[in-house]
Amino acid sequence: MSEPFDAVQVIITKRDGGVIPNDQIDWVVDAYTRGVVADEQMSSLAMAILQRGMTRGEIARWTHAMINTGVRLDFSGLGRPTADKHSTGGVGDKITLPLAPLVASYGVAVPQLSGRGLGHTGGTLDKLESLAGWRADVSNDDMHAQLRDVGAVICAAGTGLAPADKKLYALRDVTGTVESIPMIAASVMSKKIAEGTGVLVLDVKVGSGAFMKDLDQARELARTMVDLGTDAGVVTSALLTDMSTPLGLAIGNANEVAESIEVLAGGGPADVVELTVALAREMLAGVGMTDVDPAEALSDGRAMDSWRRMIEAQGGDPDTPLPMSPLVEEVRADADGYVTRLDALGFGISAWRLGAGRERQGAPVIAGAGIMLAKQLGDPVRKGDLIATLHAEDVDRMARGLAALDEACDGTGALAIGTQPVQRQLVLDEVGTRS
Ligand code: URA
Repeated sequence: MSEPFDAVQVIITKRDGGVIPNDQIDWVVDAYTRGVVADEQMSSLAMAILQRGMTRGEIARWTHAMINTGVRLDFSGLGRPTADKHSTGGVGDKITLPLAPLVASYGVAVPQLSGRGLGHTGGTLDKLESLAGWRADVSNDDMHAQLRDVGAVICAAGTGLAPADKKLYALRDVTGTVESIPMIAASVMSKKIAEGTGVLVLDVKVGSGAFMKDLDQARELARTMVDLGTDAGVVTSALLTDMSTPLGLAIGNANEVAESIEVLAGGGPADVVELTVALAREMLAGVGMTDVDPAEALSDGRAMDSWRRMIEAQGGDPDTPLPMSPLVEEVRADADGYVTRLDALGFGISAWRLGAGRERQGAPVIAGAGIMLAKQLGDPVRKGDLIATLHAEDVDRMARGLAALDEACDGTGALAIGTQPVQRQLVLDEVGTRS
């Protein structure tokens, strides 16, 4: 069958700063997914989009063209509202783990389709696989049953959801075209709209450990995604949150699960608790529950009950001992003062090199590898105080993890001790919030 358009013409339209007509957007996304438009043509178009941008109309059409390459899930038969959260990715970002069962403990269904680690940013599925027996792959029927019986499911997105995105994301990753606001927005929102959630809260990360390094860019991304969701009938809002320094004290896989369990038990680091509660409040407000305080379900054990049932429903043992790799190196303060830099990107790359992240697609991660911080940004320290403990399985990985801390921030190092205290603001801005 002959094709109605020519990929070269679509590329030239965008290269010259034009607007791609709707029927050509539909065609090029579909034809690329079918293998008719070649990788080199799509990579050229992606570069033209990165440099020229897209109108709001083009972004919406592109998003829907990606959705139309796959299936759409439908949770309308559950008889309860659905709410989901998506983070653009960060270091120590384990918030999904306590958040999903916390929100489910209020009777809301949380279908949390999650991913694996990408580069220095951790992946929710990799973390949960530290629990013996836990399965990331859940069939559609089992997902519905778990949402009805338990309320929360955290699982891998099936291959049928926006397959165009899977192919395009892999291409962008190797062609220097990831950092395009229209394409990030379309990529995230095509999956979330296809997933069929009623409410979506976006956690858009800002800072060295995030895609968006500055607040203005992050605001534009958040606004674009909130508009896409709202126009598609999803109640969508966004928090813009700091990712210049890791979240919490644990960076890795098993140690992040352990820290999440502390939060579910009513303890845990203050920043992890603050963000979990802020996102839960916004998800609950999205379904109309504006008069509840989600912190209560953390302190009275309801969220922990949901967590245990959620893990058991997917074959996991919530009481598994969580491993930490045996080889240990300590990082200590070299002066009295305050922690003035604890760089998210530097510590994220270090944990990745220690084995918490993967070296190539499909490789396994090491559950016990990673970093435990003893101090956070702004904490006062005395010379010799413990700042961080690195865990690895072998000396080679340990050496690479230590080197990553030294090489961070253009060779000035991931850690700095200064004389003036610094303050961290966790929630930097909001777009379209209801809470
Ligand atoms: N996360 C996604 O799902 N897509 C992007 O393009 C970037 C981050």
